[in-house]
Amino acid sequence: MTTTPERIDSAMLHPELRVECDPDAIIRDGHRLDHAEGTSKPLLPAPEPQPRGAKVRGNRPIDQQEAAARFIAATEHEKMHDERLWDLRQKRDRAMHGIPEWEELRSLASAIKEHTLTHLDEYLGQFEANARSNGIHVHWARDAAEHNKIVHGILRDHGATSLIKSKSMLTEECGFRHYMASVGIEVIETDLGERIQQLDNEDPSHVVVPAVHKLRTDVAEVFSHTIGTDPGNTDVHYLAEAQREATRPLILKADAGMTGANFVVAETGTFVVCTNEGNADLSANVPKLHIASIGIEKIIPRLEHLAVLVRLLSRSALGSPMTQYTSHFRGPRAGGEMHVVLVDNGRLGLDEFWTSLKCIRCGACMNTCPVYRRSGGLSYGATYSGPIGLIIDPTFNARKYSNLPFASSLNGSCTNVCPVKINIHEQIYAWRRVLVKQHEVPLAKKAAMKAAGALLSQPAAYRAAIAAADTALAHLPRFVIYNGLNAWGKHREVPHPPEQTFHSWYRANRGVKQ
Ligand code: SF4
Repeated sequence: MTTTPERIDSAMLHPELRVECDPDAIIRDGHRLDHAEGTSKPLLPAPEPQPRGAKVRGNRPIDQQEAAARFIAATEHEKMHDERLWDLRQKRDRAMHGIPEWEELRSLASAIKEHTLTHLDEYLGQFEANARSNGIHVHWARDAAEHNKIVHGILRDHGATSLIKSKSMLTEECGFRHYMASVGIEVIETDLGERIQQLDNEDPSHVVVPAVHKLRTDVAEVFSHTIGTDPGNTDVHYLAEAQREATRPLILKADAGMTGANFVVAETGTFVVCTNEGNADLSANVPKLHIASIGIEKIIPRLEHLAVLVRLLSRSALGSPMTQYTSHFRGPRAGGEMHVVLVDNGRLGLDEFWTSLKCIRCGACMNTCPVYRRSGGLSYGATYSGPIGLIIDPTFNARKYSNLPFASSLNGSCTNVCPVKINIHEQIYAWRRVLVKQHEVPLAKKAAMKAAGALLSQPAAYRAAIAAADTALAHLPRFVIYNGLNAWGKHREVPHPPEQTFHSWYRANRGVKQ
């Protein structure tokens, strides 16, 4: 048995009362004095407060670096987040190695999505016709405002005042919960992670695991304020069960249910929802009214294409062969009503970034991204975070999200893991060029890039500058390098200069004149 500091404390403070079989136990007159043991134990340190996300101030550019620095400073959160997501990445790798035809699947998936996206009108029309003949009401929404109004109209027509819903990034994109609150409709999230985020008044920080940035202590605190759990009890089973008990009655009495969709099949007029908690099935099946909000890019031509994409989705997301629930919805159940709202919200205007619409929201690019893993999804201050978010977010608002494409090392790991072969890091780089052209990059950064460009195009000047920088880094006091003028060094450490540069090594060892 190991000797912990707690055991030493209690033994030293009450040596005469120590019980042999349990060194922590303190017995007097045959009774165990739990309170005395408690006083002998050092108090547990207070849990680390949860770092909050980026400050959002209207249309002003989101300062992702500032929020990331706060996340990194919360060392327990940063370590847990990094490890948890890297674990998902490793599980994904193991799952991938179990499928010899993995690369073939990726190419197929990419081809299916590209073909569909270049024939959107044809397949969406086919879906609409087939869905209508299945008894589904089909609506079209140009943007977020139109989507919210359509859903509100359906709910109003049915006299519905409460709605249970499963996780949907599209509804986050549309600011749906806030809109529903403004028109007096109660929305209850049924996905556990999403419910945690709703109760904490925060957006999801990850497309698959929305509360992945939270420690158990954070969840215990949120639940203690909102559903009255014991704030000191951080047991995951206790917390999950408490949430289940609190939410089930709301689910049973809700007037309507809402889901998103992972895939929409044109040839059958059906849609498919993949979850691991079965919560989408509750949202869809408990109330008689089912509304599905779906981005137009979710369409695929045929059921056989679904097999390719489903095999890739869960393996890429969580490293599991498939999601616990893969539910196909074909039409309303007896006595019920089903509505599908197909939403554009800027998807048709993506121009050179259109292939980002191939995304199946598996989150693999986030799990592998060194910047995302260490800065947390909420540091992006946007609906979509991580590598794919750097492409999608500026399409909504280039000014507000102008800093995001720079929150990447462009190492390409995101592109390598993407199951539908989106050239993510190249698109991030392309966004940087677009933002410079649109004058959405700060003047100081622009000037620095221009100077760097000039330097890099002249080898002699570049080598002289490197030598000077190495000498400066080795000898100058820290405050000279890290001061207010060095914006780059505000959130980063400059690496130690090597003893020898490649050029000097090459000259010394190969004797070739440079
Ligand atoms: S971009 Fe690719 S890796 Fe990232 S979430 Fe979408 S499908 Fe997954």
